[in-house]
Amino acid sequence: MSRPGVAHPTSGADPDPRFPFPHSPTPTRCQLQPTLFDFTNGDRTADRAATDKRLEQARKACSHCPIVKDCLRWALVNKPVTKVGIWAATTPSQRTTLRKRMVDRLGPDWIDVLARQDQARRERAAAARHTPLTVDQARIVRLDRQVNGPMPTHRLITPELQQRNRTRLMAGLKAAS
Ligand code: SF4
Repeated sequence: MSRPGVAHPTSGADPDPRFPFPHSPTPTRCQLQPTLFDFTNGDRTADRAATDKRLEQARKACSHCPIVKDCLRWALVNKPVTKVGIWAATTPSQRTTLRKRMVDRLGPDWIDVLARQDQARRERAAAARHTPLTVDQARIVRLDRQVNGPMPTHRLITPELQQRNRTRLMAGLKAAS
């Protein structure tokens, strides 16, 4: 399987379209250096020391990756395209173990369960974006701006400042009610 974002021959299988590969703000190490992550369990028999070293390097790279958690989820649901290689610091056999745990936790259709959860989450987020603030919420936001001004971006909010802002806001709310 080519690493998402890297053009090279694939296994022929396609990833599950319900689970887009997580977005990384910067190119990932496996995109920049895919050969480091090519690994099968059988590799261990060839030159064990060299393989262990490479495995350790790949794992270390994954542990600093900004999308490691979502990458693991993606690799688990996409077994046909992650049969080999290091994904999210896991080997193929470790992923097999993790998939068995998912079956224990969510049932044999655990991938569909996750897909439904994702869909519900997306729908909730879309609904929240389209739900206007209630009159009370809008009033609190307006008062907060009037009393405290725009959110300071350069100043550290200390507990004292936080308390002072809260007191002012409560006083403003009381006066307005
Ligand atoms: S966690 Fe590892 S395998 Fe996954 S995107 Fe990051 S570097 Fe690549």
